[in-house]
Amino acid sequence: MRLLLANDDGIYSPGLAALASVASTFGDLHIVAPDVEQSSMGAAITHSRPISIRRTPIDGYDAHRVNGTPTDCVALGVDLFKDIDVVLSGINLGPNIGSAIWHSGTLAAAKQGTLLGLRGIALSTPTGETEPDFERLRPWVAEVLKLLFASDVRLANVNFPPDPVGVRWTRQAVSHYDGRVVPMTDPYGRSLFWLTVQRVEELEEGTDRWAMRNRFVSITPLRVDLTDDGVLDRMRKG
Ligand code: MN
Repeated sequence: MRLLLANDDGIYSPGLAALASVASTFGDLHIVAPDVEQSSMGAAITHSRPISIRRTPIDGYDAHRVNGTPTDCVALGVDLFKDIDVVLSGINLGPNIGSAIWHSGTLAAAKQGTLLGLRGIALSTPTGETEPDFERLRPWVAEVLKLLFASDVRLANVNFPPDPVGVRWTRQAVSHYDGRVVPMTDPYGRSLFWLTVQRVEELEEGTDRWAMRNRFVSITPLRVDLTDDGVLDRMRKG
């Protein structure tokens, strides 16, 4: 199996190195990742300027850095390294659950693989005061990859709690949008704003947010077809 690894935290993220060390037990790796952090860039592609790619070996793995977005990295990597089977993205330093997956560069990189006819898996874990304990997560990452590689899931969004107790198949939590705008001022008294997230307390059982709050690894199978079939049927029937 030929794997392309990407992320949105940048080529030097410890999450990418952790993913590479587990993924290398499943197949051959190529790593193509942004040269600087590109979190929350969604599925943006760079269309108004050319992008560069430079060799940057990581822990002995073939790796390249790109001055572009996560999606640029996958588009370029799949084009340059032939016969890629699966795109893995992460491990993101921060969860990607609920409405956040619309903004996530981590998921977008995996989704680009699916758009190109390959399989895509996005992997994320929360960060607290300290970096995630990737050694503790390692067996869970291996278990999830084994499970997904053996399945026919085309696109999966996986989130690891810091200390998992099990794995659950989930759906995306969509009942609450967790983004918020926080105003502040610069040293001259002028307005500035943080676009950030707030904690959502309401938990709907079976969702990605519910699983994470209950210390389960959350696997959400996704599709790239955004069509609302129920509405479409209704409107066509008039
Ligand atoms: Mn990120």
